[in-house]
Amino acid sequence: MKYSAWSLLRGALAGHRNWTPAWAPCEPKSRYDAVIVGGGGHGLAAAYYLAKNHNVTNVAVLERGWIGGGNTGRNTTIVRSNYLYPESARLYDFSLQLYEGLARDINYNIMLSQRGLVLLAHSRHDLDAMARWANAMQMNGIEAEILSRDQVAALAPALDMSPTARLPIVGGFRQRRGGTARHDAVAWGYARAASRLGVDIVQNCEVRGFVIEAGRAVGLETSLGTIRTDRIGLAAAGHSSVLAKLAGFSLPVTSYALQALVSEPIKPLLDTVILSPGTGAYVSQSDKGEMVIGAMLDLFPSYAQRGSFAVEQAIIAGTLALFPAFSRLRMLRQWAGIVDVVHDSSPIIGPTPVPGIFINCGWGTGGFKGIPVGGWTLAHALATGQNHALAEPFALERFVSGRLIDEAAASGIAH
Ligand SMILES: Cc1cc2nc3c(=O)[nH]c(=O)nc-3n(C[C@H](O)[C@H](O)[C@H](O)COP(=O)(O)OP(=O)(O)OC[C@H]3O[C@@H](n4cnc5c(N)ncnc54)[C@H](O)[C@@H]3O)c2cc1C
Repeated sequence: MKYSAWSLLRGALAGHRNWTPAWAPCEPKSRYDAVIVGGGGHGLAAAYYLAKNHNVTNVAVLERGWIGGGNTGRNTTIVRSNYLYPESARLYDFSLQLYEGLARDINYNIMLSQRGLVLLAHSRHDLDAMARWANAMQMNGIEAEILSRDQVAALAPALDMSPTARLPIVGGFRQRRGGTARHDAVAWGYARAASRLGVDIVQNCEVRGFVIEAGRAVGLETSLGTIRTDRIGLAAAGHSSVLAKLAGFSLPVTSYALQALVSEPIKPLLDTVILSPGTGAYVSQSDKGEMVIGAMLDLFPSYAQRGSFAVEQAIIAGTLALFPAFSRLRMLRQWAGIVDVVHDSSPIIGPTPVPGIFINCGWGTGGFKGIPVGGWTLAHALATGQNHALAEPFALERFVSGRLIDEAAASGIAH
């Protein structure tokens, strides 16, 4: 069924009893041309682009829980491409361009809202670093603008700009094309589009091991039985190193909890995304009116999807220093996801030491924005056996050659 105003009208006339499941429920087959582990955004996007771009449709996505139930459904939905190195700028801007056409491409409203993203400078040093950063972006062909203190105040009137503010704001930096998209819709939209092209979306199917013959991966052991395939894509975010261990290799990835929280809904107050790299806090207002507040990492390795109170407290204190009016907001929910952080804060895409297994991981705190390009490049690797040109600098091999892309040191922002 194609989604359109017309189908909505038909649905209304039929009492909305005519809607079919967005993707077909299915049991796994014993053999596929390619299998993707992880039904988050990256795994589902990879399945869709495998079918669409490479005509490989005998594909399964295996998800141990429900699709989008990992970090994809837990993130604060910010999209942007304001990175510093040319390799990252190319990768993330291609992703943003795919996002810009995605709703039409997959016939699913992902609620992309390019409301702009503003980073706050709290000191002259912050502003100097942002000027260097904006210049680098412009040299990479990506729009960026430095904002004066007055321009920041005009964009977000609820910010505390008073002379006694605990965190003085001296200016900022904006990417207008940045913004938010609806996280569930991205997962569900890719799942539906992939399913329509013949991909099997298998939920409640945990991968517990790999079938390795003559040093090559030829299948997977799952909670629903053995599945044979010559090409395996791993897109399991915070659990990537667990899967890599099962396959017999290790990854330079550490898993941490990253938390966020949302308030009760309030009237429209903030129509841009505000990040304060100095405090680690960032805020946007959801379409329902909730204030969505994100945090920095809980900096101890963990697989517990909870997050610690100390980080939550620090992030609320930072948010209140920026927006004192929020002190009377009631918070509705707090949660965490397990993110896969690489030492240079850049993703890992491409072949692994085990022939037949390809990986997409290491997106850490910022992989929602990378979903379209992560799927696109993993699909390319699975279909051709070669890394896509955009992904080549991000291959696992960079930890042997030492050609790291250290965005943590360069752009230095968390999300
Ligand atoms: C609180 C929070 C805020 C964030 N904010 C942002 C943001 O604003 N912008 C941004 O760009 N990024 C953000 N991120 C990061 C972003 O959410 C992730 O980088 C991205 O969602 C990763 O997508 P994924 O598909 O790789 O992983 P996931 O969505 O986590 O999917 C991986 C899937 O693999 C499955 N899996 C694991 N092991 C197995 C197994 N053995 N067998 C089968 N399935 C398995 C899991 O169940 C999971 O569903 C945030 C993350 C968190 C936690």
